[in-house]
Order: sequence, then C-alpha cells, then structure tokens
Amino acid sequence: MIDSAWLEINLTALRNNYSTMKNHCPTAQASAVVKSNAYGLGVDVVVPALFSEGCRQFFVATLDEAITLNNIVKSLPQNIEDDALRPVRIYVLNGLFAQDAGTYLEHGILPCLNSLEQIQLWQSACHRHGAPAPAAVYVDTGFNRLGLDEANIESLRNETAPFEGWHLELIMSHLACGDTPDHPMNRAQLERFHNALTALPEAPASLANSAGVWLGSDYHFDLTRCGISLYGGAASQLPDTILEPVASVFAHILQLRVIAIGESVGYGADFVAQNDMRIAILSIGYGDGIIRQAGRSQPGFAHVFVAGHAVPIIGRISMDLLAIDVSEIEAKLETGMAVEIFGPNASIDSLAEISQTISYELLTRLGTRYKRILK
Ligand SMILES: *Cc1c(COP(=O)(O)O)cnc(C)c1O
Repeated sequence: MIDSAWLEINLTALRNNYSTMKNHCPTAQASAVVKSNAYGLGVDVVVPALFSEGCRQFFVATLDEAITLNNIVKSLPQNIEDDALRPVRIYVLNGLFAQDAGTYLEHGILPCLNSLEQIQLWQSACHRHGAPAPAAVYVDTGFNRLGLDEANIESLRNETAPFEGWHLELIMSHLACGDTPDHPMNRAQLERFHNALTALPEAPASLANSAGVWLGSDYHFDLTRCGISLYGGAASQLPDTILEPVASVFAHILQLRVIAIGESVGYGADFVAQNDMRIAILSIGYGDGIIRQAGRSQPGFAHVFVAGHAVPIIGRISMDLLAIDVSEIEAKLETGMAVEIFGPNASIDSLAEISQTISYELLTRLGTRYKRILK
C-alpha cells in the first residue's frame, strides 16, 4: 500500500537542537517541553531520543500526558548512578486538582502549583501520604494565564508554614513576549520574577522557553524549558538558523493535468489560470493538518518543494488533496513522485506565516493519518 502522506522525523536533528539550546545556556540545566504529544511528533520517539542526549526533566500540560511519559521513561535503559544524581522529573504545567493528588504521588509526578489553594492541597496530600514530595510553584509575572499573582506572592513573603511537609523543587514563570526581544514586557517580567524569588523560599528557578534563551543569560536561571526549538521551529525574530529542521512532511503526486487560461482550480473556483498551466494534485489536505488558509494567494502563495524547485500551492485546499502549479518545472514529473510540503527545503515557518499561524500550530495539527518515518 502506498502512503498518502508521511512525516519524517529526524531524531539526530532533534538531539542536535537539544544540545545547541543546552550549550547556549552553560549555567543552566535544559529540560524539554513535550506537551501535546511532543508538539505532534510523538512522545514515544521524541522522549527516548532526548533522554539519550541526557535530558532528564520534562514538562507536559496534563496529568494524562505525564503518566504516558512516565511509562515511556521507565522502559528506557536506566543507569543507576546517573539516575541518583539526576533523577527524572516530569512536571505538569496545568496545575493540581484535589482528586488527582494521590495519582501524582503514586507516579512521582510533579504538579506546577498555580495558586495558594493548590499549595495547600499539595501540602495536605503529602501529609496524608506520610512523606514530602516535590512540586514546582508557578508564578505569573504578567502573562495573566496560569500562576500565583503578585498579591499571592506577597502573602507568602517570609512565610515558612505553607512550604512545610513538601519539597519546593522549582520556581517557574513564563514569558509572554520572548519572541520580541525589544518588548519592554521581557524586562518587566524578569524584574517581577526576581521579586518573587526574594519572597519565596530558596529553590532553583526557571523562566526561559525557547525564545527566552535568546534574550541573554539574565533569563537563563537554573533550568530552561525549550519546546519549539527542539523541533526545529524558529522561536524568535532572531535568525536562529543554527537549529536543524526535525519534521518533514511529504505527499505524492496523484495526477498531473494541463489547464487552459481562464479555467479554475478547486472549490469555489477561486483560483483562475492567467495562462495555460500544468498543475499537480497532491495526496494531502487540511485533514492532514495543512491549514486551509495556505491555499489563498494573499498575502502570497505558500510554496512546496518538488524536483529541486519551490512551487506554489494554488486554489482552495481540500480535505485530502491540494493543487500546485508545476508549469515552470522542466524536469519530468510523474504520478507517485514525492513532494515536500515542509522540511529542509520548504521551511515550516514560511508555511506557518502564509497560513497566518505559527509552526507550533502546524505541528500539533498534523494528526494521526501520517505514516511516521524515523531518520
Ligand atoms: C509551552 C511552554 C514552554 C515551551 O515553549 P516554546 O516556545 O515551545 O519553547 C515553556 N514553558 C511553558 C510554561 C509552556 O507552556
């Protein structure tokens, strides 16, 4: 059976990107953010690769994701001495519900405590459990999404009681504008984070996601939390060409056709040929996570890569099909030929931009229809 569309995952590139991001922050440890099934690429392949590169700290969004991850990590070859020095830590970003505390403790998973109530919940859960267990405190420094706000933090200043009976493993916060280096929000969040650190008991700190890493060593603290950079997406306006593409998506040419000037292509007859043209129909569409918006010609055509050329997607994208203009290609094209939708020759960031989104959304929308090929 021929695969309609396939997703190549370059695990060497993933490991190299992890090392690149880690080496850029020599004073910090490097965790990996693997929420949403490792940004759509699959925790089952991404986590073992990162683990073999030395990564021991992971962030996910939900407890469910953490349990899956925990089972994967447990099945990996362990090194007892190394594990004692650098134990695996799996953090859940979305916070703690009372009914889940026992499950966290049973699996040794760490919640990121997002409120005073959650700190209390964890404290009582550890008390019932009969042993202190580690958790992180998530501080909101202006994002206004998750975490303890400034008033919460002030109420904890110099208090020791809320931190008794459990182990404060990490104090963390998240940047809203890390991808815009000059945005004043970055400095403001950094200041608020420092202030929070003076109010809370001493513990390792973490602020930078991928973009935060490029803001300078002030932002590195003790632990970085990179996601998109590991997967080869640009995280910042800075040209971070030192990262290697990890995910490549391919489809086949199903049919080649010649159309005359004035004929239209696709639903809505939106695209109208301005010349006689040769087009190719590919075995991929929005059902595979290619955003329908990418079929519009404004603000510019999205490009795919075939036979050594970048060629535009034309007409509205269908669920399982899309059309490309191959008029300019002189090489012989045939049905069954592979076309790169994004990858080393057609950047995911360009496709994301034309699709009016970000690489993160393209990756997490890929879905399950692809055959995954590991490189
Ligand atoms: C998703 C997420 C990250 C990773 O962000 P990238 O931009 O992908 O590096 C880090 N920290 C938190 C809290 C997140 O939600």
